[in-house]
Amino acid sequence: MSTEYVLFAFITIDMRKFLSFFLVVSLFSCNNDETYTVDPAFTEFIVTFNKEAQLRSLDYSEQLQELNIKFSLLNDNAVGQCQKSKDSHTILIDQTYWNSLSILDKELILFHELGHCILNREHIDSSNNRICNSIMRSSNTVCRMNYNSTSRKNYLDELFSY
Ligand SMILES: [Zn+2]
Repeated sequence: MSTEYVLFAFITIDMRKFLSFFLVVSLFSCNNDETYTVDPAFTEFIVTFNKEAQLRSLDYSEQLQELNIKFSLLNDNAVGQCQKSKDSHTILIDQTYWNSLSILDKELILFHELGHCILNREHIDSSNNRICNSIMRSSNTVCRMNYNSTSRKNYLDELFSY
């Protein structure tokens, strides 16, 4: 915090030769006191995500601790977004859309974004009889998502084993 203030002060008095030095200091200080925020609305899904990972002999507890998840207004009709950076990843979710969803569909949306942010997965649009093979499909126009209590296990197997 204080480093940012110092950086600003030096820019305004035009000591630009110090800029890169203070930028470096600022990056380090960000690193040290980085705090991560997960809106309580998403907590139970994060817990479930790692439980499902552990059922498949995986564990993302560390990565999940270095993640921000919050509500935001998104452009381009997006309902969720994963923003990756060197130090932290942030998932943004459209609140109005989120509130309209069933528990399973909330899980679907959030697990898709965790697929990007935690599992480093890209989109995959393959399908079988027009039913999506993966929750990592690029949009709801490419194939039909059939995520329910029966199909869920196969979709999660696919998600974590890719
Ligand atoms: Zn996506």
